[in-house]
Amino acid sequence: MAIRSIREIGDDLLRKKSRQIEVIDEKVLQLLDDMYETLKQTADGVGIAAPQVGVLKRAIVVDLSEEDGPGPYKLINPVIKKQSGEQICREGCLSVPGKLGDVVRPKKVTVEALNEKGEKVVIKAEDILAVVLSHEIDHLDGILFVDRADELFDITEEEE
Ligand code: ZN
Repeated sequence: MAIRSIREIGDDLLRKKSRQIEVIDEKVLQLLDDMYETLKQTADGVGIAAPQVGVLKRAIVVDLSEEDGPGPYKLINPVIKKQSGEQICREGCLSVPGKLGDVVRPKKVTVEALNEKGEKVVIKAEDILAVVLSHEIDHLDGILFVDRADELFDITEEEE
């Protein structure tokens, strides 16, 4: 495994649409492992998408396990199949350092994806997990949370 460098806002690659993964080969598995390791070495990251490490493939890693939440999830070609309700969450992003913004997200989502073995997984998520999944899947379409937030705030030491 290796830690990969994280692309930051202003980098054109973050604005591109990622490609479907057709074959789950060594390269894809390595990518997922590296994304997981890269996520784990951040102070407070709970999710990461492949474009953030410079790869335009539809893969995300989400891990809320440190807050007694679910995870880690390593998901290939994730799609939001159903969503309902609304919640406002103050979000940040590893690619937008030092900034937070309030974003309206669905309260519940049903996500379908493939796992590392190529098996179909269905995740029924609500609250924070629904937010993180929506945020990471947005990355695969070149969307950043700043596009959805009316206003951005600087992260104060307190919040950090
Ligand atoms: Zn992000």
